Amino acid sequence: MKLAEQVTFGGSGLDRAAHIRSDEAALNSALNHRNAVAIVMWRGKPLVRGAELDQLARIPLDHPVLQAGYADAIPMPVFLGCDETGAPHFACDVSAWEPKDQDLAALGLFLDPSEQVHPDLPKDHVFAELRRLMTRLERRDAELAATAKAIIGWHDSHRFCAKCGAASEVTDAGWQRVCPTCKAHHFPRTDPVVIMLITHGNSVLMGRSPGWPEGMYSLLAGFVEPGETLEAAVRREVFEEAGIEVGEISYLASQPWPFPASLMFGCAGVALGRDITIDPVEIEDAIWVTRDDMMTAFAGEHPVLKPARRGAIAHFLLQNWLADTLD
Ligand SMILES: [Zn+2]
Repeated sequence: MKLAEQVTFGGSGLDRAAHIRSDEAALNSALNHRNAVAIVMWRGKPLVRGAELDQLARIPLDHPVLQAGYADAIPMPVFLGCDETGAPHFACDVSAWEPKDQDLAALGLFLDPSEQVHPDLPKDHVFAELRRLMTRLERRDAELAATAKAIIGWHDSHRFCAKCGAASEVTDAGWQRVCPTCKAHHFPRTDPVVIMLITHGNSVLMGRSPGWPEGMYSLLAGFVEPGETLEAAVRREVFEEAGIEVGEISYLASQPWPFPASLMFGCAGVALGRDITIDPVEIEDAIWVTRDDMMTAFAGEHPVLKPARRGAIAHFLLQNWLADTLD
């Protein structure tokens, strides 16, 4: 798919300079580089700025906010890479900071509307939920934010060795954890998910999960299981959820989805029939939607169907299906 990398979080060509991670001298030189900057995360939320919260904030590595607030799970900067000017970029987790007199009830909600202001940062800098603002960020900021959120989220949930249970230690500038007891090496994980544009003639298969807002439907999706190809996962998920057999399958586009650690594989599949039998445990409903109806939904004018959420790969695939730009 020619337009594949235009998806949200589709990448910006950041030079990850992975050779620096295990080279102590090179890492120290990056940490002390006069243009080195920190991308700051607090409890999964990136620090952003601007009236529209459309810019990822960058602060110097010696900023007092960092010194005071490092999280236990990753008490040092994670090296993300260098931009075109050679400026090293790091991700820093300041989750140890406890905001005072701020409403924290919305933290962890699917769409957390709250914003937190750190007293030692300018007033236009806030911690905000990435889902809310991902479509406003330019490509480089989006790649940095997705990477920072995913890698820091991994440290937060992998503090102990998966083999023996001992507390593990951070190495390689944040890209590995090593167990001091059994010596096992642990690498950041990314969980593959297939999401499929299943078509039959001029219609696309859409499903909804229990508890979704009324009128919200999306493409079917599911985790790839150990030992499965992407194609096998697509066929299994569509048959399990909707009782539909899928013939030809092709890969379209991928999207890092750091909520918390997925890599979405967008695939196209041709259904061999139209008869739907849903698995009520997995989904609440599945329907065929014609191209015309989807156009109306995208325009926000469909009486039942809500438009797909912008930023998610489902929206991107449907948009390109409507525009006939899947090739
Ligand atoms: Zn161990």
